[in-house]
Amino acid sequence: MKEFDLFVIGAGSGGVRASRLAAALGKTVAVAEQEYLGGTCVNVGCVPKKLFYYGSHLRDDIALADGFGWDLKAEGFSWQRLRDNKDREIERLNQIYKDLLENSGVVLLEGGATFIDNQTVTVNGTSYRAKNILIASGSSPYVPDFPGCEHVITSRDVFYLESLPDKITVVGGGYIAVEFAGIFNGLGVETELVYRGDLFLRGFDNEVREVVAEEMVKKGVSIRFNTTINRIEPLDGMHKKVTESDGSERVVREVLYATGRRPYTDHLCLENTAVKLAENGAITVSDCFQTNVPSIYAIGDVIDRIQLTPVALCEADVLINHLFGDGSKLMDYDVIPTAVFSNPNIGTVGLSEEESKAQFKNVDVYRSRFSPMKHSLSGGHEKTFMKMVVDRDTDKVLGLHMVGDDAGEIVQGMAVAIKAGATKSIFDSTIGIHPTAAEEFVTMRKPS
Ligand code: NDP
Repeated sequence: MKEFDLFVIGAGSGGVRASRLAAALGKTVAVAEQEYLGGTCVNVGCVPKKLFYYGSHLRDDIALADGFGWDLKAEGFSWQRLRDNKDREIERLNQIYKDLLENSGVVLLEGGATFIDNQTVTVNGTSYRAKNILIASGSSPYVPDFPGCEHVITSRDVFYLESLPDKITVVGGGYIAVEFAGIFNGLGVETELVYRGDLFLRGFDNEVREVVAEEMVKKGVSIRFNTTINRIEPLDGMHKKVTESDGSERVVREVLYATGRRPYTDHLCLENTAVKLAENGAITVSDCFQTNVPSIYAIGDVIDRIQLTPVALCEADVLINHLFGDGSKLMDYDVIPTAVFSNPNIGTVGLSEEESKAQFKNVDVYRSRFSPMKHSLSGGHEKTFMKMVVDRDTDKVLGLHMVGDDAGEIVQGMAVAIKAGATKSIFDSTIGIHPTAAEEFVTMRKPS
């Protein structure tokens, strides 16, 4: 039986990083993947979503061109062209992942891996033993059970739709729902967003959530809070009737459910091991990503800590350092910046105002909401929002939030300062780059 130092289940972001790092250290490594190389992020997540976001946002740009002297009109949009171009790009990335793995000496096994025991797995009928087995099998979309739930699509399907729907209902209030409501609305689809609570994006700064909701409504998304879907009935094969909790009915082409993702472990035959799962199906691991079985480790979405690609990559670094290095690296989940590619974008790092006030006695809040310079000529009405939350006693910036163009790009830079423990005085003493929106973060003088 072939034996490896490390056997990785899942060639997504975390699995590929761990495989390559281990191989670079001279370890024998195999990775098994049953679907597509690069996992959710590359194939049905971050990458194609951002490409669709660009496509969708162009409509805004065309509408704003007139004030700058351009006579442009969006006279047609081909969903098929966008989708097919995206598919080609993803195929290119899949090939890059394959080359990266093979050139690093990793054995790539195309097939699902199942456990035989704590140190043995089987792929396509062949068994492999490994000193260490890493589960990096990711997560899959969760759809609640209700009458007609079989008629919904999820983020796995939305990237491959045959045609652009005329009307869509998007259900959920997290990253995916908010991002796709923006994408479809931008592409001219009559878009409704249905969320069960008072305000979507739970966990984000409250003002950020309010500003985003307001801007999305301005752009034409119909947002329905405190609403759920009771029933979906197919009509003519193309359309569906959606009955909502207040009794209202809507006929749409697609219903996109974005109600969270669950750890993907069902297919692994974990019952042949002693690995323990948490109540929500996540694999329970220690600080160095070891399960209760010494030979089995897990990272990424499957451990359900923070479902973000850069987090999985960092977890892979820490794990490989623990397994084959000096073990000095530790995972730090504090101050993780994040962006929501909603329209407009959100960029955020550190604590929200609400979290800050719960943890610190004296909190100052600096905020600014303004029309970006571009809109002085464009005729656009979107406003940019920026906010900093500061601990008055230490002057430390606890959180920094933005809603507006390029918020993710701007906040990534600011996150370095926040991670380094920057004080408000450091921000104040930093010279702005003029004229930019970002300079507002170094010119906020008075707490509000
Ligand atoms: P999220 O966990 O972000 O949000 C799930 C949403 O679904 C919440 O609003 C939740 O409501 C709601 N929900 C859950 N169960 C039900 C139910 N039974 N009925 C109605 N609503 C329900 O999940 P997503 O699917 O949006 O995304 C999964 C993860 O992927 C994200 O958490 C994020 O980590 C990652 N991601 C990151 C992106 C980025 O970095 N830009 C982009 C896309 C995804 P409630 O709040 O009330 O619980």
